[in-house]
Amino acid sequence: MIIAGFLGPQEIIIILLIVLIIPILLIVLLVRNTNVSCPKCGKLTIQGKFRFWQFLVSILFFPFGLLSLLAGRAPTTCSSCEYRWQS
Ligand SMILES: [Zn+2]
Repeated sequence: MIIAGFLGPQEIIIILLIVLIIPILLIVLLVRNTNVSCPKCGKLTIQGKFRFWQFLVSILFFPFGLLSLLAGRAPTTCSSCEYRWQS
């Protein structure tokens, strides 16, 4: 077993951690609320979020699933005047 010779238990744990941490960090970054100003009334509102299926595909097919994020966010709805736009 050549592969087992190179990878000890410690290396395997490190690789597993990296594989787990990257998608988690990614989700934390994407779930954060970002404020954008409404083009109609100028007030700050929370930008539209990524859809659930995009997170699911990103993780299941990581790293290729990240391409699903290119589909973009859901439209943003202004909390003050109900105006909807794609940001
Ligand atoms: Zn508005």
